Amino acid sequence: MIVAMQEGADEQLIQQVIEHLVKIGFEVHRSTGARMTVLGAVGSGIDFDIRNLELLPGVQEVHRISSPYKLAGRSFRPEGTIVKLANGIDVGGNEIVVMAGPCSVESREQILSTAEAVAKAGAKVLRGGAFKPRSSPYSFQGHGEEALKLLREAGEKFKLLVISEVMEISQIPMMLPYVDILQVGARNMQNFNLLRELGKVRKPVLLKRGIAATLEELLLSAEYIMAGGNYDVILCERGIRTFETYTRNTMDISAIPIIHKLSHLPMTADPSHGTGRRDKVSPMARASVAAGADALLIEVHCDPNKAWSDGAQSLFPEQFSKLMDELRMIAPAVGRKIG
Ligand code: PEP
Ligand code: MN
Repeated sequence: MIVAMQEGADEQLIQQVIEHLVKIGFEVHRSTGARMTVLGAVGSGIDFDIRNLELLPGVQEVHRISSPYKLAGRSFRPEGTIVKLANGIDVGGNEIVVMAGPCSVESREQILSTAEAVAKAGAKVLRGGAFKPRSSPYSFQGHGEEALKLLREAGEKFKLLVISEVMEISQIPMMLPYVDILQVGARNMQNFNLLRELGKVRKPVLLKRGIAATLEELLLSAEYIMAGGNYDVILCERGIRTFETYTRNTMDISAIPIIHKLSHLPMTADPSHGTGRRDKVSPMARASVAAGADALLIEVHCDPNKAWSDGAQSLFPEQFSKLMDELRMIAPAVGRKIG
């Protein structure tokens, strides 16, 4: 950490700051220039609030240099993490994994027909909500365990792995036999009790960025899961809340290269929730692959106009198939391939 003292801060103020830093466990290296003094504070595992240092008399500014997340940070595994799913499918390797399916599992016919279409187009993982975090308590909340059974059945029939959202701790044991990836939704990104429990599970977790979360907060949430011993964490950008109202959210494509710089964990892009509009999903999916996404999460429905949730952002099967063809051309340009 770097502590820059104000110009003209006298020796007494400088000594007070040094004493404070030493007291909380730092080793201090001092550099005195013609106009100001800069203190380099070195130490690891020290729990402190940076604002308390900024408030000390004579301090101009304080900058943290090391990241507050240790396990999720790039330096923990500079070579990057490959999360191994079942059936030899890896997330974070050369192949970009496409996860596709409806927002929610509605009926047997709906999930079977959508699964068939996305499998044919080249998706490797079937998505579908069984527990839905809806903004309104009066909206469809999902079919629960029944939906998970249907998802598994459709996955097995069309050789697709399965991902579904877990909303609370009590659902974890029930969900484990049905899903290959447990999804943590944007609204639960900072449900720390849920994250801690998922740290005890030995199954990959896809962690979505919160609606108003910084990338540092996303990585700190991943740290909660990893601190419990589950290192199979896949991150996901799904759009953030900004002042723009044209789209449902603002898809932050820059999150992809930023996460790759800050972390070793694989990064997914969800252009469906990221834009909320069907006609914007394919351009953002193409941009995500170009920007280095390791996986995509895309809503596809066999009959989007009749969808019970998120129909407006769900692709028709033909649109999805066309998108996959386009992605097969873009991926090699950035050294990747796609199924
Ligand atoms: C979803 O993917 O089903 C979902 C609810 O997304 P988010 O948590 O990003 O809103
Ligand atoms: Mn949805």
